[in-house]
Amino acid sequence: MSKANRKTIIAGNWKMNKLRGEARELLDAVVKAVGDQKNLLEIVVFPPYTSLDVAATSLKDSPVKFGAQNMDNHDSGAYTGEVSAKMLTDIGATYVIIGHSERRMYFAETNQTVPLKVKAALDNGLVPVVCVGELLDERENNLTDPVVKRQVGAALTGLTPEELSKVVIAYEPVWAIGTGKVCESPEAARVIGLIRVTLKQFLDKQPELSDSIPILYGGSMNAKNADELLAQEEIDGGLIGGASLKVEDFHAIIQSASKRARLSAARS
Ligand code: PEP
Repeated sequence: MSKANRKTIIAGNWKMNKLRGEARELLDAVVKAVGDQKNLLEIVVFPPYTSLDVAATSLKDSPVKFGAQNMDNHDSGAYTGEVSAKMLTDIGATYVIIGHSERRMYFAETNQTVPLKVKAALDNGLVPVVCVGELLDERENNLTDPVVKRQVGAALTGLTPEELSKVVIAYEPVWAIGTGKVCESPEAARVIGLIRVTLKQFLDKQPELSDSIPILYGGSMNAKNADELLAQEEIDGGLIGGASLKVEDFHAIIQSASKRARLSAARS
């Protein structure tokens, strides 16, 4: 399968931002800005839990999808403060971010907990957006490739080929998240290429399935650098934090992504 057959995905991670009224305003603005670009792109927003019901209502008749920024791997039970995949599908979410570096850094997410969550998400029909990426220290010590390969391998442990083909990966170098320091686009493309090779090795009996898995870039993507990043063959879209909170910036990134999707459709 060529790149043209992979989804281009633009995903907005709102992190711990927006009260419900503000969320409604932003969602309405996103819906208006997106219009009917649904055929070319998948657009997903990840508001905080407290605004997921607002998203369910505001996005009801729109091509924009929504998901949560985290979940627990258990279905239910004595896990105070947690939210399960079943609860997310119950509210209408179709995606969930798993293993974001902020969860790895502040909330004890590890290469052991990530695969449990990925499996629970898939079991419940959610698309997991699995985040991987190296710390600055790891990059400076030439450990980017082994760290990323290890994170990808750990996240996908135990999945069947069919399950694997439903996953989305986001390469997010930790030093580029929320810092304004974007990874140079050829380097982002190189690491994403390495992730695709890792996926192929995982799917050794059906390597062609790995070609259908979208791999996004995340880390200070914005209205100015989106064109260049998304022009890279290997980069199938973006996971966007800060710039997804301003509709003008998010819309500009969506436009860069539709340009890319149109060009690759024309090439195929
Ligand atoms: C993120 O939170 O996943 C992210 C990429 O953030 P930012 O775009 O702000 O760097």
